[in-house]
Amino acid sequence: MAITGIKGFNDILPGEVEKWQHIEATARRVFELYGLSEIRIPILEKTELFCRSIGDATDIVEKEMYSFEDKGGNKVTMRPEGTASVMRAYVEHKMHALDPVARLYYMGPMFRYERPQKGRYRQFHQIGAEITGVAAPTVDAQVLTMLTHFFQELGLTEPSLQINSLGCPCCRPAYREALKKFLLDRIDKLCDDCKRRYDTNPLRALDCKSAGCQEATQGAPSMLDHLCAECSDHFDKTRKHLELVGTPYSINQRMVRGLDYYTRTTFEMVTTMLGAQSAVAAGGRYDGLISSIGGPQIPGIGFAMGVERVALLLAEKDFSRRPDLFIAALGDEAHPEAFRLMSALQRLGFAVEIDYEGKSLKSQMRRADKFNSRFTLIIGGDELARGTAPLKNMDGGTQDEVALDAASIQAAMTGGA
Ligand code: ATP
Ligand code: MG
Repeated sequence: MAITGIKGFNDILPGEVEKWQHIEATARRVFELYGLSEIRIPILEKTELFCRSIGDATDIVEKEMYSFEDKGGNKVTMRPEGTASVMRAYVEHKMHALDPVARLYYMGPMFRYERPQKGRYRQFHQIGAEITGVAAPTVDAQVLTMLTHFFQELGLTEPSLQINSLGCPCCRPAYREALKKFLLDRIDKLCDDCKRRYDTNPLRALDCKSAGCQEATQGAPSMLDHLCAECSDHFDKTRKHLELVGTPYSINQRMVRGLDYYTRTTFEMVTTMLGAQSAVAAGGRYDGLISSIGGPQIPGIGFAMGVERVALLLAEKDFSRRPDLFIAALGDEAHPEAFRLMSALQRLGFAVEIDYEGKSLKSQMRRADKFNSRFTLIIGGDELARGTAPLKNMDGGTQDEVALDAASIQAAMTGGA
């Protein structure tokens, strides 16, 4: 029996991979307009990094991590997200000593043991961005505008931006108590997870998808009504800056995010097109994260988007590539000539195809059709003898007689002299 891949771990095949490359290239292009540089971080980290940063009472750390002991007895985890690793690198390499402001992006696979379904896998891919060292709300608006800009460049009208504020260590404890008090009479309605974390993480009940939790939290007090003066001012200024540059958003007071390290601004890009997998990108401000992993007290903000979910939103679009030219060759002498011209044109920067096996003209034309090249050139004995051949423009249907040298073919394909 043939060996298959592991459930929840996917191959991305040619045909689909062009879409991924387009998403990645768009992210690089847009993020670099905003001054970000790429950082590449390892896939394996010490388990402790995620326990300390993401938080022990989160779904990720409680249930979803791929953790194991390596042969040396070290406890390691395949990264479930990127922010903790990026901040570990930022602290470890003392990047803050040169300039506390770091503007970074990353892309790559993440691993979570979840139930695989459409838009949810065990190995999935994120593109993420982080900006450290700026406490001002201008940077919140900048990050959100950059994320919106990215989706606009992809030509997507979904997803849409939702924002909220989770307050800070100064105002959140009082809110937690107010929420716990509210939930106390309704605790029986909460799902088992939310019951269990009533003490450790009661806010999760607000965005829990279970019907009981949704009912129990109807009319619950809102964090936005409990923000301290600084957090309230931060939220207002973030909104004002979004409005200043026309970045559309709505407020979702129930959005709490699943990671412990968030403070103040949190946000999601949500879609109605992927069922329960509604968040395409998510993030927030994490002013306490860098110090929690042993670094200085430096603020930060960032997000990660799920590439599989972005690809699903782009499902209708065609990203397949077309070769520029297909050269059909007839007869033993024409084949080497086709091969020579192909090689010369590839070096000039054209995507060129031939039929390696040199089959009949009919089968070569079928291959040309399959490749859907922009031009075809047919070379046989007569063409070799006269040193020219017909170059057909497959889109316009027009035909030109061109000399059998790469420069002439190049000129004819680019419309040059
Ligand atoms: P969800 O609520 O869907 O589980 P999350 O809150 O766990 O998402 P984050 O940890 O914020 O997600 O990760 C950011 C993004 O990464 C998500 O918005 C989503 O697009 C993507 N993502 C998260 N988990 C998965 C997964 N198992 N498979 C595919 N994409 C995922
Ligand atoms: Mg999740």
